[in-house]
Amino acid sequence: MSELESTWRNFVDDQWIDGGGGRLSVEDPATGKPLAEQALADAGDVERAVAAAKRCHESGVLTAMRPVERGRMVRAMGDWLLARQDEIARLLTLEAGKPLWEARGEVAGAARYFEYYGNQAETLEGRSIPLGERYMDFTVQEPYGVSAQIIPWNFPLEVAARSIAAGLATGNACVVKTPELDPLSSGYFGKAAQAAGVPAGAVNVLCGHGHEAGAALAAHPDIDQMVFTGSVDTGVKIAKAVAPNVVPCVLELGGKSAAVVYGDADLDNLLASIRRGIFTNAGQVCSALSRAVVHESIHDEVVERAADLAKSLSVGPGIERDEAGFNMGAMISEGQRDRAEGLCQRAERDGARAVAGGRKLNRDGWFLEPTVFDRVDPAGELGQTEVFGPVLSVMKFSSDEEAIEIANGTQYGLVGGVFTADVERAMDAARRLRAGQIFVNEWFAGGVETPFGGYGKSGYGREKGREALMNYVQTKNVAIRLGVG
Ligand code: NAD
Repeated sequence: MSELESTWRNFVDDQWIDGGGGRLSVEDPATGKPLAEQALADAGDVERAVAAAKRCHESGVLTAMRPVERGRMVRAMGDWLLARQDEIARLLTLEAGKPLWEARGEVAGAARYFEYYGNQAETLEGRSIPLGERYMDFTVQEPYGVSAQIIPWNFPLEVAARSIAAGLATGNACVVKTPELDPLSSGYFGKAAQAAGVPAGAVNVLCGHGHEAGAALAAHPDIDQMVFTGSVDTGVKIAKAVAPNVVPCVLELGGKSAAVVYGDADLDNLLASIRRGIFTNAGQVCSALSRAVVHESIHDEVVERAADLAKSLSVGPGIERDEAGFNMGAMISEGQRDRAEGLCQRAERDGARAVAGGRKLNRDGWFLEPTVFDRVDPAGELGQTEVFGPVLSVMKFSSDEEAIEIANGTQYGLVGGVFTADVERAMDAARRLRAGQIFVNEWFAGGVETPFGGYGKSGYGREKGREALMNYVQTKNVAIRLGVG
C-alpha cells in the first residue's frame, strides 16, 4: 500500500468533501492506537447527498442507459476494486482488525457483488398479461429512485457492495452511510465510481454518527427505499423512521444461529465448519455458528475437539496474519471486546463451563481468546444473546424433537445448520428450522447468488441473489385499451 492517507473524506455528488461533523479518529484495533482521521458528515451533508441522488434519479441518466451498459458500469467498479485488492485489504485489516487473508477475501467478495449484479442488470424483465383481445397489458420494473443504505462495521466492504451493486444495477441512485468504527476503506467506493464513470450523484458515500447522519438519512422525506444492516435495536429505529414517509425497508439484523449436529455427522467436516463459522472475523459475523446443538452420543468428543481447535488458533495483529488458516485477529473495539468478555464471565457464573478461552488477551489491542463453552443453558443469557465475538456455545440433545426446539428457541432466525450423513434427516431438519438460510454439512455454504435474510427478529427482505433485486424495483403495470379512436 502506498503510504496511508491521514484524512479520508466523504464522496458526495462526485466531489470529495469534508463534513459538518468535524473529524473522527479511527483506531487500529490491534494496537488501540489512532490510524487516520475520517471527515464526519452531519445532517446537512446528508441533505446534500440525498439532493444529489434525487437530481441524478430525476435526470433519468441511469434509466436512460441500456441495462447492459449500466451493468458494465457496475462491473467496472468491481474490476477496479479487485485490481487494488492488496492495497484495500491492508487498510481494511488496519482499521477492522481482521487477518489480512480475510480482508483480501472481503475485497474479492465486494468485487464479486459488482460482477454478479452487473451481470443481472439486463435480466430484469416485465411480463405480458392477457386481458382478452381488446387490451394489451405489460409490466415494467422501475427503480424506486433514491436508495439509502446504512452499513455495519463487521464487513463494511461486502455489506456496502451488495447494496450499492444491486441498487445501481437496477437504476437507483445510492446514498451510503458507512460505519463509524472502520469507515476508511469505504472511500474506495467513491474512487471506484469515479474510475467507472458513474454519473454524479449516483453513488454517494459518507460517514457520520448513527444517531445524527444515520438518523437524518433514514428520516429523510426524499429517500425512496432503505436497506439497513445492523443490530435489532437500530433496525427498529430505522423501521420507525422510514414509516411516516411510507418508504419500503429491508432489515438485515442479528442472529444466534445454531448447527444441529446428529450422531452420524462427519466430525472432521464439522470442525472445519466450526473453524470458519465462529472464528472468522473473530466471530463478528451476523450469521456466525454461535450455537452447536450436539447429540449426546458424540457430545464429549465434539466439545474436546472444539476446545483443541480454539486453543490451536494463533491470535494477534491481522496485518501479521497473511496466510489463510488457523489464526484470528482483534475484535473491532474495546467496548465490543469487553461486552463479549462480560457475557463469558456471567455464563461461567451461571453454570456453563469454559473449555477454552473466555478471557481477554493480556496485550495491547482488543483481543479475546477463541472461546468454547459447554453446558450452556439454551434459555440462559449466553444461550439467547448474540455475543458477536469468538464464542461457541455447545448444548446437548437426546431427541430430534429437542434439537429443533433448542435451535428454534431464540428471537432470531437468520441461518441454521444441519450436520448428518442422512439426507432424509437433513431435509426434515431443513424444513423445521426457522431461519432464512439453511446450511447442510457446510457452514456458509452458498454465495453471492443465494438469497440471504432473516426470519423472526433477524429482519425482513432479502439481500444477495436474484431475490434482492426485487427490493430495489417497483412494478408498474401498463394496460392499453385497443381499438379506441
Ligand atoms: P448498529 O446497529 O449499532 O449500527 C449499524 C449502522 O447503523 C451503523 O452505520 C450505525 O452508525 C448506524 N446507526 C446507529 N444508530 C442509528 C440510528 N439511530 N439511525 C440510523 N442509523 C443508525 O450495528 P453494528 O454494531 O454496527 O453491527 C453489529 C450488528 O449488525 C450485529 O447485531 C449483527 O448481527 C448485525 N449484522 C447483520 C448483518 C446481516 O446481514 N444480517 C450483517 C452484519 C451485521
